[in-house]
Amino acid sequence: MLKIEIIPCLKDNFSFVIYNKINRNSLVIDPGEVEPIIYFIKKNNLKLNYILNTHHHSDHIGGNLELKKKYSLKIVGSKMDQKRIPGIDIVLNDGDIWNFENSEIEVRETPGHTIGHIYYYLKKENALFTGDTLFSFGCGRLFEGTYENMLSSLKLIKSLPHNTNIYCGHEYTLNNIKFCLSLDKENQILKKTYNEIKKKIDLNIPSIPTTLKEQISNNIFLNFDNIELKKKLKFENLDELNFFKKIRELKDQF
Ligand code: ZN
Ligand code: FE
Repeated sequence: MLKIEIIPCLKDNFSFVIYNKINRNSLVIDPGEVEPIIYFIKKNNLKLNYILNTHHHSDHIGGNLELKKKYSLKIVGSKMDQKRIPGIDIVLNDGDIWNFENSEIEVRETPGHTIGHIYYYLKKENALFTGDTLFSFGCGRLFEGTYENMLSSLKLIKSLPHNTNIYCGHEYTLNNIKFCLSLDKENQILKKTYNEIKKKIDLNIPSIPTTLKEQISNNIFLNFDNIELKKKLKFENLDELNFFKKIRELKDQF
């Protein structure tokens, strides 16, 4: 079983170091910057073998080339982003299983935020790395993909086991809950969750991982099929796609 460590970096990004506790082999997902990664690798006496990127944005690939030079590691990413991920060595396609230390990592395309966005799903570890597709109580902005793209990416994530732990690319959780509450004003669970997470953030503790179950219950972007919620928000006339579009547009202006 691999160990997963959350490494906050830049202003509000998360990188993740995943390592084998016995032989100290490790990989890093989305190294937005170099220093916090080197610090963690040194402190824990790890060998950094791979970088995995979820998408090509600079806050996720910023550390690629410097880390590659320092550790002579290999960089893994989507075939779709072959030309946009600096230093990429290993390209993966939708549905590929890539092995790391006897753990299977499933790759699926999740377009919407960008066209070449992928997720990494570690079955044995029960962990999903969603990058900027799904956030805790939110979802990524649409920079390149269509609303249809993002909606089907979110549906794909929803189809995973509900006890999956979700590790996303940014600490946006409090603001995301604020947005959910601006629409679903009397949601007591959201209010309670806000207060719990506020305490964590004040202590400099990341709000993640969350679980898919928690997100399906109260992340408004995963509730495009929730008829009761639509009624409550007076959007009962909107189908799944138009409801999602409406909510995403409201969030863009929030
Ligand atoms: Zn991004
Ligand atoms: Fe990002």
